[in-house]
Amino acid sequence: MTDFVLEHAIVVPCEGRREVIDPGSVLVLDGRIAAVGTVAEIDGHPATAHVERLDLSGHLLIPGLHNTHLHSGLLRGTAENLALWEWLEQHVDPAHRALTPEIAEAASWMAYTEGLRSGTTSVLDMWRFMEGSARAAEQIGIRATLAPYTADRYGWFDTLETNRRLLETHRSVANGRIRAWVGLEHMFYCSPEMFRGAAALAEEFDVGVHTHSSETVWEVEESVRQHGKRPIEMFADWGILDGRAVIAHGVWLDETEVGICANRHTAVTHCPCSNMKLSSGAAPVRDYRAAGVTVGLGTDGEKENNNLDMIEELKFGALLAKLSTADPAAGDPWDLLEMATKDGAVALGIDDVTGTLEVGKDADLVAVDLRGVHCVPLFRSTGPAPSDANAVAHLVFSASGRDVTDVWVQGRRLVDRGEVVSVDVQAVAAQAQGAAEELFERRRALGEPVAGPATRLGKTS
Ligand SMILES: [Zn+2]
Repeated sequence: MTDFVLEHAIVVPCEGRREVIDPGSVLVLDGRIAAVGTVAEIDGHPATAHVERLDLSGHLLIPGLHNTHLHSGLLRGTAENLALWEWLEQHVDPAHRALTPEIAEAASWMAYTEGLRSGTTSVLDMWRFMEGSARAAEQIGIRATLAPYTADRYGWFDTLETNRRLLETHRSVANGRIRAWVGLEHMFYCSPEMFRGAAALAEEFDVGVHTHSSETVWEVEESVRQHGKRPIEMFADWGILDGRAVIAHGVWLDETEVGICANRHTAVTHCPCSNMKLSSGAAPVRDYRAAGVTVGLGTDGEKENNNLDMIEELKFGALLAKLSTADPAAGDPWDLLEMATKDGAVALGIDDVTGTLEVGKDADLVAVDLRGVHCVPLFRSTGPAPSDANAVAHLVFSASGRDVTDVWVQGRRLVDRGEVVSVDVQAVAAQAQGAAEELFERRRALGEPVAGPATRLGKTS
């Protein structure tokens, strides 16, 4: 069923006006949004009488959330209490060495199922052996942009050759829902030649590039020491910002780098939870947005978050903004919500079909139940004091992904009253548990970790 009306909700279109429609309805025809308006307006639409209706009283209805930096993975809760570079060397790289295509695929089934359940309708996933990730996304029904972890300075990553093969088969499949991009792990894992090769590959296939950068102070200093320039300046020199690019983290960009990102339409994905957990720093997101940089929101992986709940991430982002600027006006709930919806879609280059609740876009919709005791009192914008309306504040500060009841992607209902219906969740979890056990056994058999960038480059602080 892709023709239906969702009615009596607090509708949050996120198209830029920062207003809710309450009570509102959304009419979906043929998987696309055909009308958005008050209940009375949509009741008056000629198509409404002929389609199924779903009452969403007490629910927010928001655009699907775009998680613009994710890693599928199976290290949850086992890689704790370390800073980024030591953590990569001791936990993450050894897991990469032990990874197999089968284990990698099980991780993607798990990650996409978890994300979808909590309101994520679109992921930018950097992972390995991503043909398996595509299979998972295809069945689960989520949108996925697949950017492999490629690197040439360590032998165990994907390569530009495997990335090319992924592009040949998955550049755009499943009605555009699943797309392949070019991925690069990080400057210290990849040679300058690889960066140039990645830029050429992205241009050849007309796709975006996704990589990590400027997550810690040390890597910026090391880039200056090695190249005489900061990371984003090097990216510009190497050509990876010539087309569409999304930089994960970007915590420590200076004014010149912010200018480069704004001028070249390079987006930054803010990962507040990961940045706090790994003690990386607080990205001055308000300044980036004010300078015209598109900023998306990401959970990062299961090992640095430790869940993939984008609604929780809204809260972390808001709180980190308030703390790091010492300004309680920073981190407004609308800022975070826009980053996770409209701006995330812009970052991914799919804002023509998703990201807001507007007529003509695909019906990527999330219903969030605000009737829980943790969302009392709820004041409506149509109540006696509209200035007390608090539904959007509740979404960001009181709710979590567990309050998501229903999720649609391209009009297909993938979560139905709290249950993921496109896949057997228990089977996915059992498969991921088995894959994780195998991964850890394989990792143990490999023995001691191999020296990563921190050791090789003599990181001392
Ligand atoms: Zn990452």
